[in-house]
Amino acid sequence: MNYQYQRGCECGNIDSLEVSKIEAAFELNYLEFIKSECSKCGEKKMSFGSVNSPEIDRELLTIWSENVDYLFCPQDEELTLAQYNENLELYLEFIDNEKIDFGKKSVLIESLCIMIYDRANKTDKKDLDTKNRIASELKSRENLVLLSEHYIMEYIKKVSFPIIGIEFKESLSSKLDNEIHKDYLESTIKESIQNRNSKNNFWTKIKNIWK
Ligand SMILES: [Zn+2]
Repeated sequence: MNYQYQRGCECGNIDSLEVSKIEAAFELNYLEFIKSECSKCGEKKMSFGSVNSPEIDRELLTIWSENVDYLFCPQDEELTLAQYNENLELYLEFIDNEKIDFGKKSVLIESLCIMIYDRANKTDKKDLDTKNRIASELKSRENLVLLSEHYIMEYIKKVSFPIIGIEFKESLSSKLDNEIHKDYLESTIKESIQNRNSKNNFWTKIKNIWK
């Protein structure tokens, strides 16, 4: 299979760059490519950029585990890893390998929690089996899951931890986030009421002057 980066321009031109499987998997030099000028009109702003990413396999996972800077689909790494539920055994093997960097293991653990989250409300046998299987594998690695806890997104933990059989404790930071959000909402509401009142006052004053 051929891998390539594409960069579209408003003028209709599409520039392509052939890349290797490894470059495509980790989007190496991708930003440089999409930030370059259109080969037809010289415009620097692109209208779209795309990568055809390879499937995550043992080869890529090995390279990924050995390079802290390499990320699968940088914005959504855990979500990307979670799309490959057929890789469950492979991920477990890496999670259990003592030589693997702990940060990388945490990413894999989070991706397994996402697989559970995605199936939380599914009722067909295949999804139920997958969900229960992952849950029991994570339960047997409870210590590792707890060590990775702060890497895992709060809403994912809230749903997946009870299914795994691990107590979900709302973290202090999330409580703070909620408080800040609540305060923010309340102050925004107050402010808009004040604005409305002061506008009313303003118009009342003008009306008074005109009278
Ligand atoms: Zn152009």
